[in-house]
Amino acid sequence: MEPVSSQPQKIAPRTNLWLESRYRKLKRGLPQTIFYCPKCKGDRRRRKQCKHCEGFGKLTKESVQELIGRRILPRMQAKTGKFHGAGREDIDVLMLGRGRPFVYEVVGARNPDVDLEELRREIEERAEGAIELDPFVRVRRERVVYWKNTHFDKIYRVGVEMTGEPDAAAIAAASTFAGVVVQRTPQRVAHRRADLDRERALEVLEVVTKGSAELEMRVKCQHGTYVKEWISGDDGRTVPSLSSLLGVPCRCAQLDVAEILTDDPATTA
Ligand SMILES: [Zn+2]
Repeated sequence: MEPVSSQPQKIAPRTNLWLESRYRKLKRGLPQTIFYCPKCKGDRRRRKQCKHCEGFGKLTKESVQELIGRRILPRMQAKTGKFHGAGREDIDVLMLGRGRPFVYEVVGARNPDVDLEELRREIEERAEGAIELDPFVRVRRERVVYWKNTHFDKIYRVGVEMTGEPDAAAIAAASTFAGVVVQRTPQRVAHRRADLDRERALEVLEVVTKGSAELEMRVKCQHGTYVKEWISGDDGRTVPSLSSLLGVPCRCAQLDVAEILTDDPATTA
């Protein structure tokens, strides 16, 4: 009988790696990162008694981060993953066009040499149309800082609901608006942001009327523009606003990011 070898199996060392890509989010209600319950913060012990999330610890089943990590982490035998997006959109906002750049940080991978293209296809397949990804590129950790500190203009696709019917001249004027908008800190974020005036460049690219009470627009905005407030006027805190240009109260019914106007493609490590 052969003696059983007492030699322990060699365990691969753990390494960290950074994968850059862009995501397109094609389903509403999907947050970018894990949406922890605000009451218990997802804490393992506290969430058991939490009525707000009924012990789930999160407010949505999935996020872009989880759809990606769920496939990457087991394949790379990694401990955990961190999601670094180049900004973020609200949970109900679609991310279209070329998508939003991000770096997925894989922490403690024992098996980092997997086929990234196969992995990407697997993520998309399991996401069932909720997200699409550009091919992953292995990058240096510095890319996380680059995307965090660099801001880009964006093109939004906006669905507008109007109360009342603006005249044709007003619609024509709004359709060609390009200029500076002064925005005082919106009421909805005033509790957590300093109350001050910001100047932002804004350009209307396209307006399509949909019946008498609806518009669909494409608007190019400098980074940091509060688009919803530009539409409503936020009780006179944003000047000029679409409401003031059209002479009727307007409301943002739907908002999507059509494009983030980034300047450079990913570079490999
Ligand atoms: Zn909770």
